[in-house]
Amino acid sequence: MYHITLIPGDGIGPEVAEATKAVIEASGAKIQWETVNAGLDVLETTGTLVPDGVFDSLEKTRIALKGPITTPIGSGFRSINVMLRKKYDLFSNTRPVKTIPGIDVPFQNVDLIIFRENTEDLYIGEERMLHDNAAEGIKRITKEGSFRIIKAAFNYANQNNKSKVTVVHKANIMKLTDGLFLQCAREVAKDYPHIQLQEVIVDNMCMQLVMNPSQFQVIVTTNLYGDILSDLCAGLVGGLGIVPGANIGENMAIFEAVHGSAPDIAGKNLANPIAMILTGAMMLNYLGESIKSRSIYQAVEATVIQGKFITKDLGGSASTKDMTNAIIENI
Ligand code: NAD
Repeated sequence: MYHITLIPGDGIGPEVAEATKAVIEASGAKIQWETVNAGLDVLETTGTLVPDGVFDSLEKTRIALKGPITTPIGSGFRSINVMLRKKYDLFSNTRPVKTIPGIDVPFQNVDLIIFRENTEDLYIGEERMLHDNAAEGIKRITKEGSFRIIKAAFNYANQNNKSKVTVVHKANIMKLTDGLFLQCAREVAKDYPHIQLQEVIVDNMCMQLVMNPSQFQVIVTTNLYGDILSDLCAGLVGGLGIVPGANIGENMAIFEAVHGSAPDIAGKNLANPIAMILTGAMMLNYLGESIKSRSIYQAVEATVIQGKFITKDLGGSASTKDMTNAIIENI
């Protein structure tokens, strides 16, 4: 029996979290969920955005499945998602992007994984107004932060028989910050002579990805580029509804899909649960339950290929619940 923190989040979070719980249960994995929540809805009922119970539970279980949490744009509170990643030093944001056969997309052979640095760069929140008409933000890159994410990417490549790691940067312009990241990549690559280090500038990377995405295997990059490229890559395989993710640190892991709270479809039983369900499968794999994890991947693939119960974003008309039930039937 595993003890796992469940943070349903808001928007479509609770719907896709419920779906994922049901699918994990159907896989036979024995999990005792500790459900806690954070965000605006919680603020209304408890008077605080992140109740202590969230931290207590995370520090006890050290592993969580988390739905998206809305962050106000422009003004208002800072991202709870970013805060959790930073507080628990979850430096490796890992996002596998893989074609699911049966989804109508221009490329049928995308199979890449993004390692996004998760604690530094422009996301450190050091912004200030200089005067009424000007603001500035700090972009911080450290050797330590760069080495560990780049090592994680090369370790993954090594363990999974990948022949190439692509480092994405803008060191031609940001010579010190992105220059440091690139220099770290070159140093780490020396320890893996059998793996090619490919260096690509971020603007060119966007074009390469939409022209020929199957040339990439493992991508490692800084926080902001990783955030943007993740959504771009999701678009290559059918959208945010199908791409899972994980935030991994030395002694805690929070599993969450790439997508956000999708307020446009929240509460309507329309959300595609696949991204969160595959996130749950990633979590099972992390726990060593690779057979159960595999059975969930296969059930998702079978459901998509059957094509009867797929959600609107994938061209169907099934509800979140219908699709979830079909996946469960296929386990
Ligand atoms: P979003 O990912 O919520 O939605 C972008 C588009 O993709 C929308 O049209 C949405 O309907 C669609 N979409 C997303 N997930 C889907 C799914 N599972 N099934 C079907 N369609 C799906 O991005 P956004 O609109 O830019 O952000 C909304 C809110 O989410 C913001 O407050 C943002 O800060 C927050 N957010 C949170 C996280 C997180 O908690 N980790 C991540 C990203 C964004």
